[in-house]
Amino acid sequence: MGRVAELRCVLCGRSFGEGEVEYTCPHCGNDGTLDVLYDYEKARAEMSRAGLASEAPGMWRYRAILPVSRAEHVQALAVGWTPLYRSDRLAAEYGVKRLFIKDEGRNPTGSLKDRASAVGVGRAVELGRRAIACASTGNAASSLAGFSAITGLDAFIFVPRTAPEAKVTQLLVYDAAVVLVDGTYEDAFNLSAEAVEEFGWYNRNCGINPYLLEGKKTCALEIAEQLDWNAPDWVFIAVGDGCCIGGLYKGFSEMVSLGLIERMPRLCGVQAEGCRPIQRAFVEEDSKVRPETAHTIADSIAVGRPRNWAKALRAVRNSGGRMVTVTDEEILSAIGGLARRTGVFGEPAGVAGFAGFCKMAREGMLRADDSVVVVVTGNGLKDIATARRACREPITSEPRLEGIRCLTRAGGPGGK
Ligand SMILES: *Cc1c(COP(=O)(O)O)cnc(C)c1O
Ligand SMILES: [Zn+2]
Repeated sequence: MGRVAELRCVLCGRSFGEGEVEYTCPHCGNDGTLDVLYDYEKARAEMSRAGLASEAPGMWRYRAILPVSRAEHVQALAVGWTPLYRSDRLAAEYGVKRLFIKDEGRNPTGSLKDRASAVGVGRAVELGRRAIACASTGNAASSLAGFSAITGLDAFIFVPRTAPEAKVTQLLVYDAAVVLVDGTYEDAFNLSAEAVEEFGWYNRNCGINPYLLEGKKTCALEIAEQLDWNAPDWVFIAVGDGCCIGGLYKGFSEMVSLGLIERMPRLCGVQAEGCRPIQRAFVEEDSKVRPETAHTIADSIAVGRPRNWAKALRAVRNSGGRMVTVTDEEILSAIGGLARRTGVFGEPAGVAGFAGFCKMAREGMLRADDSVVVVVTGNGLKDIATARRACREPITSEPRLEGIRCLTRAGGPGGK
């Protein structure tokens, strides 16, 4: 189908041709996730800095290293090229040289997942598939539902019954077939896997389908290009299944090998204190991840049994990065902290990366000359109930001046 040269297992290193395997390594089972590799000599010729500068904004400017070969299989939604805001105020406050916020909540359905869905749906169309399915904590689902709707694919979605209302509403608006699973994300994942097997749907689960992570890697490519091909020292991102951080690592490594950037930034993965299987494996130097029961308000990273753990651990270890945890209180305070300083309103998991950055900075783990990128993975409007817990209450008043005199006594706005 064009650009893809081979698929290589992240655990055993065995190599497969495109079409030879569909999802994971037959020898290693579901833990053996695959890397999609390209003809980099050819890509190098197609992907010069100057050439890219004249491309239209959006993730498909990097199509030389994306696994959808035909332009007509790309849906007409503006995915990627999200803003990278520089915040001198935050940099000064936390004692680093430069700080940038990559606002992934600006994607069409409000999260970084759109990058993966764009590729997943493109692949499904190229393969002539009519139906596609995924399990999700919510964002992959809303994203897949949106892309499937405009493509005319039937989407079958499995989410935990507890998914935030806004995410479920997105699914229904796009008219996907939605199953609210009475259980955790893991239960939803297992049910979707059985259903995919039984009904022959295309599987959009990013922890299984190697092509999805290719979409997510474009976030890294953009960060580098938006920084004029200077890699930052650190990139912070929330970690659930591990696909996003695995995607960042893949993107930055490919740019190093294509000669577009000089070095790999350190990747810092952030998990919630109440659900930290990948962080635990990292600090215990384990080669495996042990499942946990998830307890966190950050629903998008409430993943007790991460699927892409091997790529996540590789990303952090090979980049000289770290895994850190943050408490739910730190996440709540990061929602307001980030919004009030930069204007970027993230959902709980969306700001977990920022909370991790604040913690690392406070603990003296960052240097005064570091340049840092924090990826905000999802939009705050995805989960307003949790956001409200991080805010002051409004006053209620009749439409008369008397009713609002208390505003000045309370000291006006400015609460942290
Ligand atoms: C999916 C998601 C994550 C975590 O990504 P993984 O690939 O599962 O590690 C973080 N934040 C948001 C908002 C997400 O939707
Ligand atoms: Zn293998």
